[in-house]
Amino acid sequence: MTSRNEALFQRAQRSIPGGVNSPVRAFRSVGGTPRFLARAEGARVWDADGKEYIDYVGSWGPAIAGHAHPAIIEAVREAALKGLSFGAPTESEVDMAELICAMLPSVEMVRLVSSGTEATMSAIRLARGFTGRDAIVKFEGCYHGHADSLLVKAGSGLLTFGNPSSGGVPADFAKHTIVLDYNDLQQVEDVFKARGDEIAAIIVEPVAGNMNLIKPQPGFLEGLRRICTEYGAVLIFDEVMTGFRVGPQGVQGLYGITPDLTTLGKVIGGGMPVGAFGGRRDIMEKIAPLGSVYQAGTLSGSPVAVAAGMVSLQLTREAGFYERLTASTQRLVAGLAAAAKDAGVTFSADSVGGMFGVYFADKVPASFAQVMATDKERFNRFFHAMLEAGHYFAPSAFEAGFVSVAHGEAEIDATVAVARAVFAQLG
Ligand code: PLP
Repeated sequence: MTSRNEALFQRAQRSIPGGVNSPVRAFRSVGGTPRFLARAEGARVWDADGKEYIDYVGSWGPAIAGHAHPAIIEAVREAALKGLSFGAPTESEVDMAELICAMLPSVEMVRLVSSGTEATMSAIRLARGFTGRDAIVKFEGCYHGHADSLLVKAGSGLLTFGNPSSGGVPADFAKHTIVLDYNDLQQVEDVFKARGDEIAAIIVEPVAGNMNLIKPQPGFLEGLRRICTEYGAVLIFDEVMTGFRVGPQGVQGLYGITPDLTTLGKVIGGGMPVGAFGGRRDIMEKIAPLGSVYQAGTLSGSPVAVAAGMVSLQLTREAGFYERLTASTQRLVAGLAAAAKDAGVTFSADSVGGMFGVYFADKVPASFAQVMATDKERFNRFFHAMLEAGHYFAPSAFEAGFVSVAHGEAEIDATVAVARAVFAQLG
Protein backbone atom coordinates (compact mmCIF):
# COMPACT_ATOMS: atom_id res chain seq x y z
CA MET A 1 0.00 0.00 0.00
CA THR A 2 2.67 2.50 0.94
CA SER A 3 5.48 1.08 -1.15
CA ARG A 4 6.74 4.27 -2.76
CA ASN A 5 6.29 6.22 0.48
CA GLU A 6 8.36 3.63 2.29
CA ALA A 7 11.06 3.55 -0.37
CA LEU A 8 11.26 7.33 -0.35
CA PHE A 9 11.43 7.43 3.44
CA GLN A 10 14.32 4.94 3.42
CA ARG A 11 16.08 6.95 0.75
CA ALA A 12 15.41 10.28 2.48
CA GLN A 13 16.89 9.09 5.75
CA ARG A 14 20.25 8.51 4.09
CA SER A 15 20.68 12.17 3.07
CA ILE A 16 18.30 14.21 5.27
CA PRO A 17 18.34 13.98 9.09
CA GLY A 18 15.33 11.86 10.02
CA GLY A 19 14.30 11.92 6.37
CA VAL A 20 12.47 15.24 6.74
CA ASN A 21 13.09 18.98 6.58
CA SER A 22 10.83 19.77 9.56
CA PRO A 23 10.51 17.31 12.46
CA VAL A 24 6.72 16.84 12.71
CA ARG A 25 6.69 15.45 9.16
CA ALA A 26 8.57 12.35 10.33
CA PHE A 27 5.45 10.87 12.05
CA ARG A 28 7.53 10.23 15.20
CA SER A 29 4.57 11.05 17.43
CA VAL A 30 2.14 8.66 15.72
CA GLY A 31 4.64 6.13 14.35
CA GLY A 32 4.63 4.64 10.87
CA THR A 33 5.71 5.93 7.50
CA PRO A 34 5.16 9.54 6.52
CA ARG A 35 3.27 10.09 3.30
CA PHE A 36 5.42 11.79 0.68
CA LEU A 37 3.01 14.14 -1.00
CA ALA A 38 3.19 14.58 -4.74
CA ARG A 39 0.27 16.86 -5.55
CA ALA A 40 -2.55 18.84 -3.99
CA GLU A 41 -5.73 20.46 -5.25
CA GLY A 42 -8.67 21.98 -3.39
CA ALA A 43 -9.36 19.95 -0.25
CA ARG A 44 -7.30 16.97 -1.43
CA VAL A 45 -3.70 15.75 -1.51
CA TRP A 46 -2.16 12.75 -3.28
CA ASP A 47 0.83 10.78 -2.04
CA ALA A 48 3.71 9.18 -3.90
CA ASP A 49 1.63 6.03 -4.45
CA GLY A 50 -1.14 8.10 -6.03
CA LYS A 51 -3.43 7.57 -3.05
CA GLU A 52 -5.92 10.39 -2.47
CA TYR A 53 -6.67 11.99 0.91
CA ILE A 54 -9.04 14.68 2.16
CA ASP A 55 -6.53 16.98 3.82
CA TYR A 56 -6.96 18.56 7.26
CA VAL A 57 -3.41 19.93 7.50
CA GLY A 58 -3.55 22.44 4.65
CA SER A 59 0.22 22.94 4.71
CA TRP A 60 -0.27 23.80 8.43
CA GLY A 61 -2.57 26.69 7.68
CA PRO A 62 -1.84 28.57 4.45
CA ALA A 63 -4.07 26.56 2.11
CA ILE A 64 -7.09 28.45 3.41
CA ALA A 65 -8.60 28.91 -0.06
CA GLY A 66 -7.85 25.28 -0.95
CA HIS A 67 -4.66 23.86 -2.46
CA ALA A 68 -3.42 25.15 -5.79
CA HIS A 69 -6.16 27.75 -6.10
CA PRO A 70 -6.17 28.74 -9.80
CA ALA A 71 -6.00 32.49 -9.09
CA ILE A 72 -2.98 32.04 -6.79
CA ILE A 73 -1.20 29.79 -9.28
CA GLU A 74 -1.82 32.30 -12.06
CA ALA A 75 -0.47 35.17 -9.93
CA VAL A 76 2.68 33.17 -9.16
CA ARG A 77 3.16 32.34 -12.85
CA GLU A 78 2.77 35.98 -13.88
CA ALA A 79 5.16 37.23 -11.19
CA ALA A 80 7.75 34.56 -12.00
CA LEU A 81 7.79 35.56 -15.65
CA LYS A 82 8.92 39.03 -14.59
CA GLY A 83 11.85 37.76 -12.50
CA LEU A 84 12.18 35.79 -9.30
CA SER A 85 13.99 38.19 -7.02
CA PHE A 86 15.64 41.58 -7.32
CA GLY A 87 17.05 42.50 -3.92
CA ALA A 88 15.51 45.93 -4.46
CA PRO A 89 12.14 47.40 -3.49
CA THR A 90 9.07 46.57 -5.60
CA GLU A 91 5.59 48.03 -5.99
CA SER A 92 3.99 44.71 -5.06
CA GLU A 93 5.50 44.72 -1.58
CA VAL A 94 4.08 48.21 -1.00
CA ASP A 95 0.67 46.89 -2.06
CA MET A 96 1.05 43.99 0.36
CA ALA A 97 2.11 46.24 3.26
CA GLU A 98 -0.84 48.57 2.61
CA LEU A 99 -3.24 45.64 2.46
CA ILE A 100 -2.01 44.19 5.78
CA CYS A 101 -2.22 47.64 7.44
CA ALA A 102 -5.75 48.07 6.07
CA MET A 103 -6.85 44.63 7.27
CA LEU A 104 -5.32 44.83 10.77
CA PRO A 105 -6.06 48.13 12.51
CA SER A 106 -3.31 47.52 15.12
CA VAL A 107 -0.68 47.43 12.37
CA GLU A 108 0.46 50.92 11.40
CA MET A 109 3.69 49.76 9.75
CA VAL A 110 4.81 46.32 8.69
CA ARG A 111 7.96 44.62 7.48
CA LEU A 112 7.92 41.50 5.33
CA VAL A 113 10.21 38.55 6.03
CA SER A 114 10.32 34.97 4.71
CA SER A 115 9.03 32.82 7.60
CA GLY A 116 7.15 32.91 10.87
CA THR A 117 10.39 32.26 12.74
CA GLU A 118 11.97 35.36 11.24
CA ALA A 119 8.88 37.37 12.18
CA THR A 120 8.87 36.37 15.86
CA MET A 121 12.65 36.54 16.22
CA SER A 122 12.65 40.06 14.77
CA ALA A 123 9.66 41.17 16.87
CA ILE A 124 11.44 40.04 20.04
CA ARG A 125 14.63 41.88 19.07
CA LEU A 126 12.58 44.97 18.30
CA ALA A 127 10.74 44.81 21.64
CA ARG A 128 14.08 44.53 23.43
CA GLY A 129 15.55 47.41 21.46
CA PHE A 130 12.47 49.57 22.06
CA THR A 131 12.26 48.99 25.81
CA GLY A 132 15.96 48.55 26.58
CA ARG A 133 15.04 45.43 28.60
CA ASP A 134 16.20 41.82 28.12
CA ALA A 135 13.62 39.46 29.64
CA ILE A 136 10.59 38.14 27.77
CA VAL A 137 7.54 36.18 28.90
CA LYS A 138 6.18 33.26 26.91
CA PHE A 139 3.77 30.46 27.76
CA GLU A 140 4.42 26.75 27.96
CA GLY A 141 3.09 24.94 24.92
CA CYS A 142 3.11 28.03 22.70
CA TYR A 143 5.44 27.66 19.73
CA HIS A 144 6.89 30.77 18.16
CA GLY A 145 9.36 29.29 15.70
CA HIS A 146 12.88 28.18 16.39
CA ALA A 147 14.84 31.28 17.40
CA ASP A 148 17.04 30.60 20.45
CA SER A 149 15.20 32.71 23.01
CA LEU A 150 11.84 31.20 22.01
CA LEU A 151 12.87 27.55 22.14
CA VAL A 152 12.45 27.51 25.87
CA LYS A 153 9.46 25.73 27.24
CA ALA A 154 8.97 24.47 30.72
CA GLY A 155 10.36 25.12 34.11
CA SER A 156 6.78 26.22 34.68
CA GLY A 157 6.15 27.93 37.92
CA LEU A 158 6.39 31.41 39.15
CA LEU A 159 9.62 33.33 38.73
CA THR A 160 11.33 30.26 37.37
CA PHE A 161 13.88 30.84 34.68
CA GLY A 162 13.34 28.61 31.68
CA ASN A 163 15.68 25.80 30.78
CA PRO A 164 16.55 25.30 27.15
CA SER A 165 14.27 22.71 25.65
CA SER A 166 16.48 22.34 22.62
CA GLY A 167 20.11 21.40 22.53
CA GLY A 168 22.33 24.24 21.37
CA VAL A 169 20.54 27.04 23.19
CA PRO A 170 23.00 28.63 25.62
CA ALA A 171 21.70 28.83 29.19
CA ASP A 172 22.76 32.47 29.09
CA PHE A 173 20.11 33.11 26.42
CA ALA A 174 17.43 30.91 28.00
CA LYS A 175 17.66 32.72 31.31
CA HIS A 176 16.04 35.76 29.72
CA THR A 177 12.92 33.77 28.82
CA ILE A 178 10.35 33.45 31.60
CA VAL A 179 7.93 30.60 30.91
CA LEU A 180 4.46 30.72 32.48
CA ASP A 181 1.27 28.68 32.20
CA TYR A 182 -1.14 29.62 29.40
CA ASN A 183 -4.43 30.99 30.73
CA ASP A 184 -2.97 31.67 34.20
CA LEU A 185 -3.15 35.43 34.56
CA GLN A 186 -2.21 35.38 38.23
CA GLN A 187 1.25 34.07 37.35
CA VAL A 188 1.70 36.95 34.93
CA GLU A 189 0.59 39.47 37.56
CA ASP A 190 3.03 38.02 40.09
CA VAL A 191 6.00 37.92 37.74
CA PHE A 192 5.44 41.51 36.65
CA LYS A 193 5.06 42.65 40.25
CA ALA A 194 8.43 41.11 41.02
CA ARG A 195 10.34 41.96 37.83
CA GLY A 196 8.17 44.20 35.65
CA ASP A 197 10.96 46.68 34.92
CA GLU A 198 13.12 43.93 33.37
CA ILE A 199 10.51 42.55 30.97
CA ALA A 200 10.57 43.73 27.35
CA ALA A 201 7.61 41.78 26.02
CA ILE A 202 4.96 39.15 26.42
CA ILE A 203 4.67 36.95 23.34
CA VAL A 204 1.56 34.78 23.09
CA GLU A 205 -0.40 32.73 20.61
CA PRO A 206 -3.72 34.47 21.30
CA VAL A 207 -5.48 31.24 20.35
CA ALA A 208 -2.91 28.52 20.88
CA GLY A 209 -2.51 26.12 17.99
CA ASN A 210 0.71 24.36 18.86
CA MET A 211 -0.50 22.33 21.83
CA ASN A 212 -3.53 21.19 19.91
CA LEU A 213 -6.10 24.02 19.93
CA ILE A 214 -6.50 25.93 23.20
CA LYS A 215 -8.65 29.01 23.48
CA PRO A 216 -7.83 31.89 25.81
CA GLN A 217 -10.05 31.88 28.87
CA PRO A 218 -12.24 34.98 29.29
CA GLY A 219 -10.11 37.82 30.62
CA PHE A 220 -6.71 36.25 29.84
CA LEU A 221 -5.84 38.32 26.76
CA GLU A 222 -7.45 41.43 28.25
CA GLY A 223 -5.29 40.91 31.34
CA LEU A 224 -2.09 40.60 29.27
CA ARG A 225 -3.00 43.87 27.53
CA ARG A 226 -3.58 45.66 30.84
CA ILE A 227 -0.36 44.38 32.42
CA CYS A 228 1.80 45.28 29.40
CA THR A 229 0.35 48.79 29.36
CA GLU A 230 0.90 49.20 33.10
CA TYR A 231 4.53 48.09 33.01
CA GLY A 232 5.55 49.49 29.61
CA ALA A 233 6.17 46.04 28.09
CA VAL A 234 5.38 45.24 24.46
CA LEU A 235 2.44 42.89 23.87
CA ILE A 236 3.19 40.64 20.88
CA PHE A 237 0.37 38.58 19.41
CA ASP A 238 1.91 35.76 17.43
CA GLU A 239 -0.75 35.34 14.75
CA VAL A 240 1.47 33.33 12.41
CA MET A 241 -1.13 30.56 12.56
CA THR A 242 -4.30 32.48 13.45
CA GLY A 243 -3.82 35.62 11.32
CA PHE A 244 -6.50 35.73 8.60
CA ARG A 245 -7.44 32.13 9.46
CA VAL A 246 -9.75 32.59 12.43
CA GLY A 247 -11.39 35.71 11.01
CA PRO A 248 -10.71 38.79 8.88
CA GLN A 249 -8.72 40.49 11.65
CA GLY A 250 -7.21 37.46 13.32
CA VAL A 251 -7.70 36.79 17.01
CA GLN A 252 -7.24 40.47 17.80
CA GLY A 253 -10.39 41.25 15.83
CA LEU A 254 -12.36 38.37 17.33
CA TYR A 255 -11.60 39.39 20.90
CA GLY A 256 -11.28 43.14 20.33
CA ILE A 257 -7.77 43.49 21.75
CA THR A 258 -5.03 45.69 20.32
CA PRO A 259 -1.53 44.23 20.60
CA ASP A 260 1.54 46.44 20.19
CA LEU A 261 3.11 44.11 17.64
CA THR A 262 1.70 41.27 15.55
CA THR A 263 3.62 38.51 13.83
CA LEU A 264 2.24 36.88 10.71
CA GLY A 265 3.30 34.08 8.37
CA LYS A 266 1.92 31.09 6.47
CA VAL A 267 -1.51 32.41 5.52
CA ILE A 268 -0.25 35.71 4.09
CA GLY A 269 1.94 33.78 1.66
CA GLY A 270 -0.84 31.61 0.29
CA GLY A 271 1.59 28.67 0.34
CA MET A 272 4.78 30.57 -0.52
CA PRO A 273 7.41 31.49 2.10
CA VAL A 274 6.35 34.82 3.63
CA GLY A 275 6.16 36.23 7.12
CA ALA A 276 5.65 39.71 8.52
CA PHE A 277 5.79 41.66 11.72
CA GLY A 278 4.12 44.98 12.31
CA GLY A 279 2.35 47.20 14.77
CA ARG A 280 2.69 50.55 16.50
CA ARG A 281 4.46 53.14 14.39
CA ASP A 282 6.65 54.41 17.26
CA ILE A 283 7.94 50.86 17.83
CA MET A 284 8.35 49.96 14.14
CA GLU A 285 10.36 53.15 13.55
CA LYS A 286 13.12 51.66 15.71
CA ILE A 287 14.01 49.23 12.92
CA ALA A 288 16.92 49.85 10.56
CA PRO A 289 17.31 51.92 8.44
CA LEU A 290 15.18 54.28 10.59
CA GLY A 291 16.39 53.04 13.96
CA SER A 292 19.10 51.03 15.64
CA VAL A 293 17.46 47.57 15.66
CA TYR A 294 18.91 45.62 12.74
CA GLN A 295 16.76 43.32 10.63
CA ALA A 296 17.20 42.30 7.00
CA GLY A 297 16.65 39.58 4.37
CA THR A 298 17.94 38.98 0.85
CA LEU A 299 14.66 37.41 -0.26
CA SER A 300 12.35 39.47 1.99
CA GLY A 301 9.29 40.63 0.06
CA SER A 302 9.97 38.09 -2.71
CA PRO A 303 7.82 39.23 -5.65
CA VAL A 304 6.60 35.70 -6.34
CA ALA A 305 5.65 35.04 -2.71
CA VAL A 306 4.02 38.44 -2.39
CA ALA A 307 1.97 37.81 -5.52
CA ALA A 308 0.65 34.56 -4.03
CA GLY A 309 -0.04 36.23 -0.70
CA MET A 310 -1.91 39.17 -2.20
CA VAL A 311 -4.33 36.93 -4.04
CA SER A 312 -4.75 34.68 -1.02
CA LEU A 313 -5.61 37.65 1.20
CA GLN A 314 -7.96 39.07 -1.40
CA LEU A 315 -9.80 35.74 -1.57
CA THR A 316 -10.40 35.93 2.18
CA ARG A 317 -12.07 39.31 1.66
CA GLU A 318 -14.75 37.90 -0.62
CA ALA A 319 -18.26 38.07 0.83
CA GLY A 320 -19.10 35.10 3.02
CA PHE A 321 -15.56 33.65 3.08
CA TYR A 322 -15.23 33.32 6.86
CA GLU A 323 -18.88 32.33 7.27
CA ARG A 324 -18.30 29.39 4.90
CA LEU A 325 -14.96 28.49 6.46
CA THR A 326 -16.35 28.61 9.99
CA ALA A 327 -19.51 26.68 9.07
CA SER A 328 -17.50 23.86 7.45
CA THR A 329 -15.18 23.64 10.43
CA GLN A 330 -18.09 23.60 12.87
CA ARG A 331 -19.83 20.92 10.80
CA LEU A 332 -16.68 18.79 11.04
CA VAL A 333 -16.19 19.11 14.81
CA ALA A 334 -19.90 18.67 15.59
CA GLY A 335 -20.03 15.61 13.33
CA LEU A 336 -16.94 14.05 14.90
CA ALA A 337 -18.19 14.72 18.43
CA ALA A 338 -21.61 13.19 17.67
CA ALA A 339 -20.04 10.12 16.05
CA ALA A 340 -17.73 9.58 19.03
CA LYS A 341 -20.61 9.98 21.45
CA ASP A 342 -22.71 7.39 19.60
CA ALA A 343 -19.77 4.98 19.79
CA GLY A 344 -19.25 5.68 23.50
CA VAL A 345 -15.71 7.04 22.91
CA THR A 346 -14.43 9.71 25.31
CA PHE A 347 -13.85 12.61 22.97
CA SER A 348 -14.30 16.36 22.58
CA ALA A 349 -13.65 18.85 19.81
CA ASP A 350 -13.47 22.62 19.39
CA SER A 351 -12.88 25.17 16.65
CA VAL A 352 -12.20 28.84 15.94
CA GLY A 353 -12.77 29.98 12.36
CA GLY A 354 -10.91 27.51 10.15
CA MET A 355 -8.83 25.93 12.95
CA PHE A 356 -9.95 22.96 15.01
CA GLY A 357 -8.84 20.64 17.79
CA VAL A 358 -9.83 17.04 18.49
CA TYR A 359 -9.12 15.65 21.95
CA PHE A 360 -9.50 12.17 23.38
CA ALA A 361 -10.71 13.64 26.67
CA ASP A 362 -14.15 14.27 28.13
CA LYS A 363 -13.86 18.03 27.92
CA VAL A 364 -12.03 20.56 25.80
CA PRO A 365 -8.67 21.28 27.48
CA ALA A 366 -7.91 24.80 28.68
CA SER A 367 -4.26 24.35 29.62
CA PHE A 368 -1.05 22.67 28.52
CA ALA A 369 -1.34 20.18 31.41
CA GLN A 370 -4.87 19.22 30.35
CA VAL A 371 -3.75 18.65 26.76
CA MET A 372 -0.91 16.45 27.99
CA ALA A 373 -3.45 14.38 29.92
CA THR A 374 -5.50 13.49 26.80
CA ASP A 375 -5.34 9.92 25.50
CA LYS A 376 -2.49 10.01 23.00
CA GLU A 377 -2.53 6.29 22.28
CA ARG A 378 -6.19 6.49 21.21
CA PHE A 379 -5.47 9.51 19.07
CA ASN A 380 -2.73 7.57 17.31
CA ARG A 381 -5.05 4.68 16.52
CA PHE A 382 -7.69 7.15 15.27
CA PHE A 383 -5.08 8.94 13.15
CA HIS A 384 -3.84 5.78 11.45
CA ALA A 385 -7.32 4.40 10.77
CA MET A 386 -8.38 7.72 9.24
CA LEU A 387 -5.19 7.94 7.19
CA GLU A 388 -5.63 4.43 5.88
CA ALA A 389 -9.18 5.38 4.81
CA GLY A 390 -7.95 8.51 3.00
CA HIS A 391 -8.41 11.29 5.58
CA TYR A 392 -5.20 13.15 6.42
CA PHE A 393 -5.19 14.65 9.92
CA ALA A 394 -2.16 16.29 11.59
CA PRO A 395 0.24 13.51 12.64
CA SER A 396 0.28 14.41 16.35
CA ALA A 397 -2.22 14.67 19.20
CA PHE A 398 -0.70 18.05 19.97
CA GLU A 399 -1.30 19.84 16.68
CA ALA A 400 -4.35 21.80 15.55
CA GLY A 401 -6.22 20.90 12.35
CA PHE A 402 -7.14 23.12 9.41
CA VAL A 403 -10.12 23.36 7.09
CA SER A 404 -10.28 25.38 3.84
CA VAL A 405 -13.17 26.87 1.90
CA ALA A 406 -12.62 24.06 -0.62
CA HIS A 407 -13.92 21.65 2.04
CA GLY A 408 -17.62 21.47 1.20
CA GLU A 409 -20.32 19.43 2.86
CA ALA A 410 -19.42 16.41 0.71
CA GLU A 411 -15.83 16.31 2.02
CA ILE A 412 -16.77 16.98 5.63
CA ASP A 413 -19.57 14.43 5.63
CA ALA A 414 -17.33 11.80 4.03
CA THR A 415 -14.77 12.32 6.80
CA VAL A 416 -17.40 12.16 9.53
CA ALA A 417 -18.86 8.95 8.06
CA VAL A 418 -15.44 7.28 8.11
CA ALA A 419 -14.75 8.59 11.62
CA ARG A 420 -18.04 7.04 12.76
CA ALA A 421 -16.81 3.61 11.67
CA VAL A 422 -13.36 4.23 13.17
CA PHE A 423 -14.76 5.33 16.55
CA ALA A 424 -16.89 2.19 16.63
CA GLN A 425 -13.72 0.10 16.38
CA LEU A 426 -11.69 2.15 18.86
CA GLY A 427 -13.65 0.74 21.76
N1 PLP B 1 4.52 31.08 15.34
C1 PLP B 1 3.49 30.21 15.30
C2 PLP B 1 2.27 30.47 16.13
C3 PLP B 1 3.57 29.07 14.51
O1 PLP B 1 2.54 28.21 14.47
C4 PLP B 1 4.74 28.85 13.73
C5 PLP B 1 4.87 27.66 12.91
O2 PLP B 1 4.19 26.67 13.04
C6 PLP B 1 5.77 29.79 13.80
C7 PLP B 1 5.62 30.89 14.61
C8 PLP B 1 7.01 29.60 12.98
O3 PLP B 1 6.72 29.79 11.63
P1 PLP B 1 7.67 29.14 10.50
O4 PLP B 1 7.51 27.66 10.59
O5 PLP B 1 7.15 29.74 9.23
O6 PLP B 1 9.06 29.59 10.79
